[in-house]
Amino acid sequence: MPTYDFHCSSCGKDFSTILSIAARGEDAIVCPACGSKNVEQQFTSVSVKTGKKTW
Ligand SMILES: [Zn+2]
Repeated sequence: MPTYDFHCSSCGKDFSTILSIAARGEDAIVCPACGSKNVEQQFTSVSVKTGKKTW
């Protein structure tokens, strides 16, 4: 099953979730730690784990 990695911009947590293709890009993705929808998808092929972005 495809899993997708996300990063929560609200609390800084990284988490993975299993999504159908249809769910991608929807508002259905929330951070399991804080419930924020302010999450961004991580692309594992890039594998950037060097630090936090400062927006
Ligand atoms: Zn969070």
